[in-house]
Amino acid sequence: MNKLGTPASQRILQTLIDHGYEAYYVGGAVRDFVRGTASADIDIATSATPQEVQKLFPRTVDVGIEFGTILVIIDGTPFEVTTFRNDAFSGRPTLKEDLRRRDFTMNALAYTIDGTLIDYFEGEHDIHAQKIRAVDDPHARMMEDPLRILRACRFMATFQYEIEAGTLKAMQKEANRLQQVAPERMKQEMDRLLMGSHAKEALHLIVTSAIGNALPLFPKKLPMLAYMTPFTSSHEGWAYLCLAGDIHATVLAKAYVLSNEEKSFIQVVEHAFQRRTEDVFTIKDIYQFEADVLFIAEKLYKAYKGERTTCTVQYWQHQKQALPIQSKQELVVNGKDLLQWTNNQQGRWVGEWMTKIEQAVLHGECPNDEQVIKEWFIREFNIER
Ligand code: ATP
Ligand code: MG
Repeated sequence: MNKLGTPASQRILQTLIDHGYEAYYVGGAVRDFVRGTASADIDIATSATPQEVQKLFPRTVDVGIEFGTILVIIDGTPFEVTTFRNDAFSGRPTLKEDLRRRDFTMNALAYTIDGTLIDYFEGEHDIHAQKIRAVDDPHARMMEDPLRILRACRFMATFQYEIEAGTLKAMQKEANRLQQVAPERMKQEMDRLLMGSHAKEALHLIVTSAIGNALPLFPKKLPMLAYMTPFTSSHEGWAYLCLAGDIHATVLAKAYVLSNEEKSFIQVVEHAFQRRTEDVFTIKDIYQFEADVLFIAEKLYKAYKGERTTCTVQYWQHQKQALPIQSKQELVVNGKDLLQWTNNQQGRWVGEWMTKIEQAVLHGECPNDEQVIKEWFIREFNIER
């Protein structure tokens, strides 16, 4: 079996240990190592204080000293190094107390520099049993930080693990507390939930339980969920929630602090979906909407009819590529040409005629060729005068 860690992260552990501190790999990286999958980032827990960590490494960034976290940068790669969380009762910060304060048993594992798994809470067993189980008393854990309710749903969506009965019960009972959680934190977990390959199961659990009532603006029903999932992006998931809940994009965006980019994406999908309900996509639609927007709008349209779309994003990309032009910039003529050909004054008419030329080229009435466009334009221009 391969060892967890990289030469750079091993160096951090070794440096800390050489200076008399304890240091371990913790969190998602250990979990993913036990699961046999790759992990995005490697987190380290240590007995050294943030100030002590800062002294030991030349490149550090203070990302949350109040939470005990220092970013240590080795060869350009950042690693989160966090001081053992202090237990309020025992007073002394230890690895075990640190792990006890984590959310689920699978996330409460530690791993030593020489490859020993430290498992106080049967995390390895739960990973093999594919169970999401709160560390210690589930009610206490959910009350301490209600975001864990949503995190459990997120892990369900990404790993298709089952939530252990006692944990699930506590999640339901304490669901209302989700209302106290900062929307920024919920947004992060929702993004990952929506991107999960088993988002369907997680969303179904949320909507059929008290969790859905506690989340801001969560749709009461999730129509055609089975035809919509898995989502190809979190953007798609948000667009679906918006349409399923018949919620204004601006309102949903505010509740979950979506970025302006996410908000406008949802609005464009809504517009495209509206267009699709009127008729199949026209050349103009294919031209104006991005391939992923066409894909999602078509998927939504088909889902509402009880079907699964057979058109992929690539299909819409090809449809777009097959158009004579991809954007106005590709036209071989511009406003200056129109002024020259007519000897007219600059004015609104230039933009209007450029749009007419764009439409003519787009619909194949006229090739994107300077001479032919000129002839077409002069003819049409004279007719309209
Ligand atoms: P991923 O690999 O998807 O990032 P992760 O487990 O690393 O999953 P993070 O949100 O990055 O998730 O958190 C890192 C670790 O910090 C977790 O594994 C867990 O041990 C701990 N943790 C994070 N959030 C909480 C929380 N709300 N309550 C308790 N422990 C938490
Ligand atoms: Mg992580």
